[in-house]
Amino acid sequence: MSKKTNIAILGSTGSIGTQALEVISQNPDIFQVEILTANTNADLLIKQAIKYSPNTVVIIDELKYEYVKNTLFDHDIKVYTGKDALNYVVSFSTIDTVLSAIVGFAGLESTIAAIKTGKRIALANKESLVVAGKIITDLSKQYNAPIIPVDSEHSAIFQCLVGEDTSSVKNIYLTASGGPFRHKSLSELNNVTLSDALNHPKWNMGNKITIDSATLMNKGLEAIEAKYLFNLKPEQIEIVVHPESIIHSMVKFNDGSVKAQIGNPDMRVPIKYAFTFPYRIGTEFNNFDIFAHSSLHFEKPDLEKFPALNIALNVMKTGGNATCVLNAANEIAVNAFLNNKIKFTQISTLVEEALTRVDFIKEPTLNNLFETDKTTREISLKIIKEKL
Ligand code: NDP
Repeated sequence: MSKKTNIAILGSTGSIGTQALEVISQNPDIFQVEILTANTNADLLIKQAIKYSPNTVVIIDELKYEYVKNTLFDHDIKVYTGKDALNYVVSFSTIDTVLSAIVGFAGLESTIAAIKTGKRIALANKESLVVAGKIITDLSKQYNAPIIPVDSEHSAIFQCLVGEDTSSVKNIYLTASGGPFRHKSLSELNNVTLSDALNHPKWNMGNKITIDSATLMNKGLEAIEAKYLFNLKPEQIEIVVHPESIIHSMVKFNDGSVKAQIGNPDMRVPIKYAFTFPYRIGTEFNNFDIFAHSSLHFEKPDLEKFPALNIALNVMKTGGNATCVLNAANEIAVNAFLNNKIKFTQISTLVEEALTRVDFIKEPTLNNLFETDKTTREISLKIIKEKL
Protein backbone atom coordinates (compact mmCIF):
# COMPACT_ATOMS: atom_id res chain seq x y z
CA MET A 1 0.00 0.00 0.00
CA SER A 2 1.62 3.25 -1.06
CA LYS A 3 -0.59 6.09 0.18
CA LYS A 4 -2.24 6.28 3.60
CA THR A 5 -5.82 4.99 3.83
CA ASN A 6 -8.14 7.76 4.98
CA ILE A 7 -10.80 6.37 7.27
CA ALA A 8 -14.18 7.70 8.40
CA ILE A 9 -15.34 6.08 11.64
CA LEU A 10 -19.09 6.33 12.13
CA GLY A 11 -19.61 5.54 15.81
CA SER A 12 -16.04 6.27 16.93
CA THR A 13 -16.96 6.45 20.63
CA GLY A 14 -18.32 2.88 20.76
CA SER A 15 -16.65 -0.44 21.36
CA ILE A 16 -15.84 -1.03 17.67
CA GLY A 17 -15.00 2.63 17.08
CA THR A 18 -12.48 2.82 19.92
CA GLN A 19 -10.87 -0.47 18.88
CA ALA A 20 -10.59 0.82 15.32
CA LEU A 21 -8.74 3.84 16.70
CA GLU A 22 -6.34 1.48 18.50
CA VAL A 23 -5.66 -0.22 15.17
CA ILE A 24 -5.01 3.18 13.60
CA SER A 25 -2.77 4.26 16.51
CA GLN A 26 -0.61 1.21 16.00
CA ASN A 27 -0.22 1.88 12.28
CA PRO A 28 0.06 5.66 11.87
CA ASP A 29 2.12 5.29 8.70
CA ILE A 30 -0.71 3.37 7.01
CA PHE A 31 -3.95 4.92 8.29
CA GLN A 32 -5.23 8.46 8.73
CA VAL A 33 -8.47 9.40 10.51
CA GLU A 34 -10.69 11.62 8.34
CA ILE A 35 -14.04 11.61 10.19
CA LEU A 36 -15.12 10.76 13.73
CA THR A 37 -18.74 10.68 14.86
CA ALA A 38 -20.65 10.21 18.11
CA ASN A 39 -24.26 10.33 19.19
CA THR A 40 -24.06 12.05 22.58
CA ASN A 41 -20.62 11.28 24.04
CA ALA A 42 -19.13 14.72 23.36
CA ASP A 43 -16.26 14.41 25.83
CA LEU A 44 -14.84 11.25 24.29
CA LEU A 45 -15.37 12.62 20.78
CA ILE A 46 -13.40 15.75 21.69
CA LYS A 47 -10.60 13.68 23.23
CA GLN A 48 -10.42 11.51 20.10
CA ALA A 49 -10.48 14.59 17.84
CA ILE A 50 -7.56 16.19 19.69
CA LYS A 51 -5.55 12.96 19.56
CA TYR A 52 -6.24 11.95 15.93
CA SER A 53 -6.72 15.36 14.21
CA PRO A 54 -9.48 14.32 11.82
CA ASN A 55 -10.71 16.61 9.08
CA THR A 56 -14.25 16.60 10.53
CA VAL A 57 -16.25 15.43 13.54
CA VAL A 58 -20.00 14.96 13.87
CA ILE A 59 -21.89 15.10 17.14
CA ILE A 60 -25.46 13.95 16.43
CA ASP A 61 -26.89 15.48 19.59
CA GLU A 62 -27.57 19.11 18.63
CA LEU A 63 -27.51 20.21 22.26
CA LYS A 64 -23.82 19.27 22.45
CA TYR A 65 -22.81 21.05 19.23
CA GLU A 66 -21.76 24.39 20.74
CA TYR A 67 -19.72 22.61 23.41
CA VAL A 68 -17.84 20.47 20.87
CA LYS A 69 -17.33 23.40 18.49
CA ASN A 70 -16.08 25.74 21.21
CA THR A 71 -13.76 23.15 22.74
CA LEU A 72 -12.20 22.38 19.36
CA PHE A 73 -11.99 26.07 18.44
CA ASP A 74 -8.17 26.10 18.31
CA HIS A 75 -7.98 22.98 16.19
CA ASP A 76 -8.33 22.84 12.45
CA ILE A 77 -11.31 20.47 12.63
CA LYS A 78 -14.77 21.01 11.13
CA VAL A 79 -17.70 20.25 13.43
CA TYR A 80 -21.18 19.25 12.23
CA THR A 81 -24.30 18.18 14.06
CA GLY A 82 -27.60 16.40 13.38
CA LYS A 83 -28.49 13.11 11.73
CA ASP A 84 -28.23 14.42 8.16
CA ALA A 85 -24.63 15.49 8.75
CA LEU A 86 -23.59 11.82 8.70
CA ASN A 87 -24.95 11.34 5.19
CA TYR A 88 -23.14 14.50 4.09
CA VAL A 89 -19.71 13.84 5.58
CA VAL A 90 -19.42 10.29 4.24
CA SER A 91 -19.49 11.79 0.73
CA PHE A 92 -16.17 13.65 1.20
CA SER A 93 -13.86 12.65 -1.64
CA THR A 94 -10.90 12.46 0.75
CA ILE A 95 -12.30 9.33 2.41
CA ASP A 96 -11.14 5.89 1.22
CA THR A 97 -12.90 3.64 3.73
CA VAL A 98 -15.99 4.12 5.88
CA LEU A 99 -16.22 2.05 9.05
CA SER A 100 -19.93 1.71 9.75
CA ALA A 101 -19.94 1.14 13.51
CA ILE A 102 -23.09 2.86 14.73
CA VAL A 103 -25.31 0.49 16.69
CA GLY A 104 -28.76 -0.52 15.47
CA PHE A 105 -31.17 0.75 12.81
CA ALA A 106 -29.65 4.22 13.37
CA GLY A 107 -26.69 3.05 11.26
CA LEU A 108 -28.74 2.18 8.18
CA GLU A 109 -29.01 5.57 6.45
CA SER A 110 -25.34 6.47 6.75
CA THR A 111 -24.31 3.00 5.59
CA ILE A 112 -26.43 3.46 2.46
CA ALA A 113 -25.12 7.01 1.95
CA ALA A 114 -21.55 5.69 2.17
CA ILE A 115 -22.26 2.87 -0.29
CA LYS A 116 -23.65 5.38 -2.77
CA THR A 117 -20.30 7.19 -2.82
CA GLY A 118 -18.57 4.02 -4.01
CA LYS A 119 -16.14 3.80 -1.09
CA ARG A 120 -14.98 0.70 0.71
CA ILE A 121 -17.39 -0.14 3.52
CA ALA A 122 -15.96 -1.87 6.58
CA LEU A 123 -19.29 -3.03 7.97
CA ALA A 124 -19.78 -3.63 11.67
CA ASN A 125 -23.39 -2.38 11.79
CA LYS A 126 -25.02 -5.77 11.20
CA GLU A 127 -28.50 -4.34 11.75
CA SER A 128 -28.41 -2.55 8.39
CA LEU A 129 -27.99 -5.90 6.60
CA VAL A 130 -30.64 -7.51 8.80
CA VAL A 131 -33.14 -4.78 7.95
CA ALA A 132 -32.30 -4.14 4.30
CA GLY A 133 -29.92 -6.89 3.19
CA LYS A 134 -31.08 -7.17 -0.40
CA ILE A 135 -31.22 -3.41 -0.94
CA ILE A 136 -27.74 -2.97 0.51
CA THR A 137 -26.06 -5.75 -1.43
CA ASP A 138 -27.71 -4.54 -4.66
CA LEU A 139 -26.51 -0.97 -3.99
CA SER A 140 -23.03 -2.23 -3.20
CA LYS A 141 -22.88 -3.83 -6.67
CA GLN A 142 -24.49 -0.85 -8.40
CA TYR A 143 -22.10 1.68 -6.86
CA ASN A 144 -19.06 -0.58 -6.88
CA ALA A 145 -18.66 -0.17 -3.11
CA PRO A 146 -17.17 -3.36 -1.67
CA ILE A 147 -18.55 -4.41 1.72
CA ILE A 148 -15.89 -6.01 3.90
CA PRO A 149 -17.44 -7.49 7.04
CA VAL A 150 -16.08 -6.57 10.46
CA ASP A 151 -18.26 -8.92 12.49
CA SER A 152 -15.72 -11.61 13.43
CA GLU A 153 -17.81 -14.53 12.14
CA HIS A 154 -18.44 -12.87 8.79
CA SER A 155 -14.85 -11.76 8.51
CA ALA A 156 -13.92 -15.41 9.08
CA ILE A 157 -16.23 -16.62 6.32
CA PHE A 158 -15.05 -13.83 4.01
CA GLN A 159 -11.43 -14.91 4.65
CA CYS A 160 -12.29 -18.59 4.03
CA LEU A 161 -13.85 -17.63 0.70
CA VAL A 162 -10.89 -15.67 -0.66
CA GLY A 163 -9.75 -17.42 -3.85
CA GLU A 164 -12.71 -19.82 -3.83
CA ASP A 165 -15.51 -20.30 -6.34
CA THR A 166 -18.56 -19.41 -4.24
CA SER A 167 -20.70 -21.90 -6.16
CA SER A 168 -18.68 -24.67 -4.47
CA VAL A 169 -19.86 -23.63 -0.99
CA LYS A 170 -22.03 -26.33 0.57
CA ASN A 171 -22.78 -24.58 3.84
CA ILE A 172 -21.28 -22.34 6.48
CA TYR A 173 -20.90 -22.91 10.21
CA LEU A 174 -21.47 -19.71 12.18
CA THR A 175 -19.87 -20.18 15.56
CA ALA A 176 -21.35 -18.83 18.79
CA SER A 177 -19.74 -18.67 22.22
CA GLY A 178 -23.11 -19.56 23.77
CA GLY A 179 -23.08 -16.39 25.86
CA PRO A 180 -23.12 -16.09 29.66
CA PHE A 181 -26.18 -18.33 30.15
CA ARG A 182 -25.10 -21.48 28.32
CA HIS A 183 -25.23 -23.53 31.52
CA LYS A 184 -28.40 -22.00 32.97
CA SER A 185 -31.69 -23.92 32.93
CA LEU A 186 -34.81 -22.53 31.30
CA SER A 187 -36.31 -21.69 34.70
CA GLU A 188 -33.10 -20.03 35.92
CA LEU A 189 -33.21 -17.72 32.89
CA ASN A 190 -36.40 -16.17 34.32
CA ASN A 191 -34.42 -14.64 37.14
CA VAL A 192 -31.17 -13.51 35.55
CA THR A 193 -30.23 -9.90 36.21
CA LEU A 194 -29.01 -7.15 33.93
CA SER A 195 -25.48 -7.39 35.29
CA ASP A 196 -25.46 -11.18 34.72
CA ALA A 197 -26.49 -10.57 31.12
CA LEU A 198 -23.88 -7.87 30.59
CA ASN A 199 -21.12 -10.19 31.74
CA HIS A 200 -20.10 -11.85 28.47
CA PRO A 201 -17.57 -14.68 28.90
CA LYS A 202 -15.44 -13.94 25.81
CA TRP A 203 -16.07 -10.54 24.25
CA ASN A 204 -16.13 -7.02 25.64
CA MET A 205 -18.71 -5.17 23.51
CA GLY A 206 -21.35 -2.44 23.57
CA ASN A 207 -24.45 -3.07 25.73
CA LYS A 208 -26.87 -3.83 22.91
CA ILE A 209 -24.81 -6.56 21.26
CA THR A 210 -23.88 -7.97 24.68
CA ILE A 211 -27.56 -8.51 25.52
CA ASP A 212 -28.16 -9.88 22.01
CA SER A 213 -25.35 -12.35 22.70
CA ALA A 214 -26.95 -13.44 25.97
CA THR A 215 -30.33 -14.14 24.29
CA LEU A 216 -28.53 -15.60 21.22
CA MET A 217 -30.55 -13.12 19.12
CA ASN A 218 -27.12 -11.92 18.00
CA LYS A 219 -26.51 -15.26 16.28
CA GLY A 220 -29.89 -15.01 14.58
CA LEU A 221 -29.07 -11.49 13.36
CA GLU A 222 -25.71 -12.81 12.16
CA ALA A 223 -27.37 -15.64 10.25
CA ILE A 224 -29.50 -13.07 8.40
CA GLU A 225 -26.41 -10.91 7.87
CA ALA A 226 -24.57 -13.93 6.39
CA LYS A 227 -27.50 -14.85 4.15
CA TYR A 228 -27.29 -11.48 2.39
CA LEU A 229 -23.53 -10.93 2.52
CA PHE A 230 -22.68 -14.32 1.04
CA ASN A 231 -25.85 -14.91 -0.98
CA LEU A 232 -26.76 -18.11 0.88
CA LYS A 233 -29.98 -20.03 1.31
CA PRO A 234 -31.19 -20.29 4.93
CA GLU A 235 -30.58 -24.05 4.91
CA GLN A 236 -26.90 -23.41 4.11
CA ILE A 237 -26.38 -21.64 7.44
CA GLU A 238 -25.70 -23.76 10.49
CA ILE A 239 -25.16 -22.39 14.00
CA VAL A 240 -22.53 -24.11 16.13
CA VAL A 241 -21.95 -23.32 19.79
CA HIS A 242 -18.19 -23.24 20.28
CA PRO A 243 -17.50 -21.92 23.78
CA GLU A 244 -13.76 -21.32 23.32
CA SER A 245 -14.47 -18.70 20.60
CA ILE A 246 -11.26 -19.57 18.80
CA ILE A 247 -12.75 -20.72 15.52
CA HIS A 248 -14.53 -17.62 14.29
CA SER A 249 -16.54 -19.50 11.65
CA MET A 250 -16.13 -22.15 8.96
CA VAL A 251 -17.08 -22.91 5.38
CA LYS A 252 -17.78 -26.41 4.10
CA PHE A 253 -17.20 -26.94 0.36
CA ASN A 254 -18.81 -29.47 -1.97
CA ASP A 255 -15.69 -31.70 -1.97
CA GLY A 256 -16.13 -32.23 1.78
CA SER A 257 -13.32 -29.87 2.83
CA VAL A 258 -13.97 -27.44 5.66
CA LYS A 259 -11.98 -24.20 6.02
CA ALA A 260 -11.92 -22.44 9.37
CA GLN A 261 -10.51 -19.09 10.39
CA ILE A 262 -8.91 -19.26 13.82
CA GLY A 263 -7.52 -16.66 16.20
CA ASN A 264 -7.88 -14.98 19.56
CA PRO A 265 -11.24 -13.32 20.22
CA ASP A 266 -10.03 -9.80 19.47
CA MET A 267 -12.13 -7.47 17.28
CA ARG A 268 -9.06 -5.44 16.33
CA VAL A 269 -8.02 -8.29 14.02
CA PRO A 270 -11.14 -8.29 11.78
CA ILE A 271 -11.29 -4.48 11.93
CA LYS A 272 -7.73 -4.27 10.62
CA TYR A 273 -8.39 -6.90 7.96
CA ALA A 274 -11.41 -4.92 6.73
CA PHE A 275 -9.14 -1.86 6.40
CA THR A 276 -6.27 -3.62 4.62
CA PHE A 277 -7.88 -6.40 2.54
CA PRO A 278 -6.51 -7.97 0.31
CA TYR A 279 -3.30 -7.27 2.24
CA ARG A 280 -2.41 -8.27 5.76
CA ILE A 281 -0.18 -6.18 7.99
CA GLY A 282 1.77 -7.19 11.07
CA THR A 283 0.19 -6.97 14.50
CA GLU A 284 1.36 -5.91 17.91
CA PHE A 285 -1.69 -7.41 19.52
CA ASN A 286 -1.42 -10.74 21.36
CA ASN A 287 -0.37 -13.43 18.97
CA PHE A 288 -2.33 -16.65 18.82
CA ASP A 289 -0.81 -19.63 20.62
CA ILE A 290 -2.18 -22.94 19.35
CA PHE A 291 -0.82 -24.85 22.37
CA ALA A 292 -3.00 -22.79 24.68
CA HIS A 293 -6.06 -24.36 23.03
CA SER A 294 -5.64 -28.10 23.23
CA SER A 295 -9.35 -28.88 23.26
CA LEU A 296 -12.14 -27.27 21.31
CA HIS A 297 -15.85 -28.05 21.72
CA PHE A 298 -18.86 -27.89 19.44
CA GLU A 299 -22.56 -28.27 20.28
CA LYS A 300 -25.89 -27.54 18.68
CA PRO A 301 -27.67 -24.49 20.12
CA ASP A 302 -30.59 -25.10 22.49
CA LEU A 303 -33.44 -23.40 20.65
CA GLU A 304 -35.93 -24.06 23.44
CA LYS A 305 -33.78 -22.31 26.03
CA PHE A 306 -32.91 -19.51 23.62
CA PRO A 307 -36.14 -18.85 21.68
CA ALA A 308 -34.81 -15.56 20.25
CA LEU A 309 -32.45 -17.53 18.03
CA ASN A 310 -35.27 -19.77 16.84
CA ILE A 311 -37.47 -16.75 16.07
CA ALA A 312 -34.68 -15.07 14.10
CA LEU A 313 -33.90 -18.22 12.10
CA ASN A 314 -37.58 -18.51 11.16
CA VAL A 315 -37.71 -14.84 10.23
CA MET A 316 -34.64 -15.35 8.02
CA LYS A 317 -36.72 -17.86 6.03
CA THR A 318 -39.73 -15.51 5.86
CA GLY A 319 -37.65 -12.56 4.58
CA GLY A 320 -39.46 -9.43 3.31
CA ASN A 321 -39.98 -6.77 5.98
CA ALA A 322 -40.10 -9.44 8.73
CA THR A 323 -36.37 -9.02 9.36
CA CYS A 324 -36.97 -5.30 9.90
CA VAL A 325 -39.77 -6.07 12.40
CA LEU A 326 -37.48 -8.52 14.16
CA ASN A 327 -34.74 -5.93 14.46
CA ALA A 328 -36.94 -3.04 15.61
CA ALA A 329 -38.82 -5.11 18.19
CA ASN A 330 -35.54 -6.49 19.46
CA GLU A 331 -34.02 -3.00 19.79
CA ILE A 332 -37.04 -1.85 21.83
CA ALA A 333 -36.98 -5.02 23.94
CA VAL A 334 -33.24 -4.83 24.64
CA ASN A 335 -33.54 -1.17 25.55
CA ALA A 336 -36.42 -1.98 27.92
CA PHE A 337 -34.36 -4.75 29.52
CA LEU A 338 -31.35 -2.42 29.86
CA ASN A 339 -33.66 0.02 31.67
CA ASN A 340 -35.06 -2.69 33.95
CA LYS A 341 -38.54 -2.41 32.39
CA ILE A 342 -38.85 -6.07 31.33
CA LYS A 343 -37.30 -9.39 32.33
CA PHE A 344 -34.63 -11.16 30.27
CA THR A 345 -37.02 -13.85 29.05
CA GLN A 346 -39.56 -11.22 27.98
CA ILE A 347 -37.20 -9.98 25.25
CA SER A 348 -38.11 -12.90 22.99
CA THR A 349 -41.79 -12.80 24.06
CA LEU A 350 -42.00 -9.19 22.93
CA VAL A 351 -40.27 -9.84 19.60
CA GLU A 352 -42.53 -12.81 18.88
CA GLU A 353 -45.65 -10.80 19.64
CA ALA A 354 -44.56 -7.81 17.52
CA LEU A 355 -43.97 -10.13 14.54
CA THR A 356 -47.64 -11.15 14.62
CA ARG A 357 -48.86 -7.55 14.69
CA VAL A 358 -47.06 -5.88 11.77
CA ASP A 359 -48.29 -6.33 8.17
CA PHE A 360 -46.00 -8.45 6.01
CA ILE A 361 -44.47 -6.96 2.84
CA LYS A 362 -42.73 -9.45 0.58
CA GLU A 363 -40.52 -7.06 -1.39
CA PRO A 364 -40.24 -3.89 0.67
CA THR A 365 -38.77 -0.66 -0.65
CA LEU A 366 -36.49 1.37 1.58
CA ASN A 367 -39.44 3.64 2.42
CA ASN A 368 -41.49 0.58 3.40
CA LEU A 369 -38.68 -0.43 5.74
CA PHE A 370 -38.50 2.98 7.43
CA GLU A 371 -42.30 2.76 7.92
CA THR A 372 -42.04 -0.81 9.21
CA ASP A 373 -39.34 0.20 11.67
CA LYS A 374 -41.45 3.09 12.99
CA THR A 375 -44.66 1.05 13.29
CA THR A 376 -42.88 -1.85 14.97
CA ARG A 377 -41.31 0.44 17.56
CA GLU A 378 -44.72 1.94 18.39
CA ILE A 379 -46.35 -1.50 18.61
CA SER A 380 -43.52 -2.88 20.74
CA LEU A 381 -43.78 -0.02 23.23
CA LYS A 382 -47.54 -0.65 23.40
CA ILE A 383 -46.98 -4.35 24.10
CA ILE A 384 -44.63 -3.48 26.96
CA LYS A 385 -47.21 -1.10 28.45
CA GLU A 386 -50.19 -3.42 28.04
CA LYS A 387 -48.81 -6.86 28.65
CA LEU A 388 -45.36 -7.09 30.16
P1 NDP B 1 -21.57 0.77 21.09
O1 NDP B 1 -22.88 0.92 21.76
O2 NDP B 1 -20.38 0.48 21.92
O3 NDP B 1 -21.26 2.06 20.22
C1 NDP B 1 -22.20 2.59 19.34
C2 NDP B 1 -21.68 3.81 18.62
O4 NDP B 1 -22.75 4.35 17.83
C3 NDP B 1 -21.26 4.95 19.56
O5 NDP B 1 -20.26 5.71 18.93
C4 NDP B 1 -22.53 5.77 19.71
O6 NDP B 1 -22.30 7.11 20.09
C5 NDP B 1 -23.06 5.68 18.28
N1 NDP B 1 -24.51 5.83 18.23
C6 NDP B 1 -25.43 5.26 19.03
N2 NDP B 1 -26.68 5.62 18.67
C7 NDP B 1 -26.53 6.46 17.61
C8 NDP B 1 -27.45 7.19 16.82
N3 NDP B 1 -28.77 7.14 17.04
N4 NDP B 1 -26.96 7.94 15.81
C9 NDP B 1 -25.63 8.02 15.58
N5 NDP B 1 -24.71 7.37 16.31
C10 NDP B 1 -25.16 6.58 17.32
O7 NDP B 1 -21.77 -0.37 19.99
P2 NDP B 1 -20.69 -1.43 19.46
O8 NDP B 1 -19.44 -0.73 19.08
O9 NDP B 1 -20.65 -2.58 20.36
O10 NDP B 1 -21.41 -1.95 18.14
C11 NDP B 1 -21.47 -1.17 16.96
C12 NDP B 1 -21.98 -2.07 15.83
O11 NDP B 1 -21.00 -3.08 15.60
C13 NDP B 1 -23.28 -2.81 16.18
O12 NDP B 1 -24.06 -2.92 15.04
C14 NDP B 1 -22.80 -4.19 16.61
O13 NDP B 1 -23.75 -5.20 16.36
C15 NDP B 1 -21.59 -4.38 15.71
N6 NDP B 1 -20.59 -5.29 16.25
C16 NDP B 1 -19.98 -5.00 17.44
C17 NDP B 1 -19.03 -5.85 17.97
C18 NDP B 1 -18.29 -5.51 19.23
O14 NDP B 1 -17.36 -6.24 19.60
N7 NDP B 1 -18.63 -4.46 19.93
C19 NDP B 1 -18.68 -7.12 17.29
C20 NDP B 1 -19.33 -7.30 16.03
C21 NDP B 1 -20.27 -6.41 15.54
P3 NDP B 1 -22.30 7.53 21.68
O15 NDP B 1 -21.05 6.91 22.25
O16 NDP B 1 -22.26 9.00 21.66
O17 NDP B 1 -23.56 6.95 22.25
